[in-house]
Amino acid sequence: MPYKLIDKAKMPLVPDLTFDESCIFCKIVRKQASSSVIYEDDTIIVFLDIRPLNMGHTLVIPKAHYVDIFDIPEKELRQMYKVTKLVSFVIKKATNADGISIIQQNGKAAGQDIFHIHVHVVPRFEGQKLPPFSELKEVEKSKLDTMARKIKQQL
Ligand code: ZN
Repeated sequence: MPYKLIDKAKMPLVPDLTFDESCIFCKIVRKQASSSVIYEDDTIIVFLDIRPLNMGHTLVIPKAHYVDIFDIPEKELRQMYKVTKLVSFVIKKATNADGISIIQQNGKAAGQDIFHIHVHVVPRFEGQKLPPFSELKEVEKSKLDTMARKIKQQL
């Protein structure tokens, strides 16, 4: 059944997770695709972006498949940003960043690339300009895992 037919706003906070088989983030949630996870609770999972703007660039996503800000229930949105705040502290400490950018795109026109809502938590350094997302290269899994361990030590 296409997820759009489910009235997710009426679902409990810990739902029988909606799942889109074509969605890479849903596969990460179900451990059908590998990722370097740094945090997980009943509704949220946090892992490193494989094409980071800077090392430590992290994604915070709900475990249930919601497309964007228009789709996600407020309760889960609140949990997503609560975890985003925690993760921001931890990433800043682990990377000695001077600042943290929080980026969240909704819709193709806005630059959304994966249609499962996600918040980018990006460590930023004084004077450094960021390249466009389209120019980013994949980082080896082993390097991401090392970074994930370093971040988890700060949790
Ligand atoms: Zn998904």
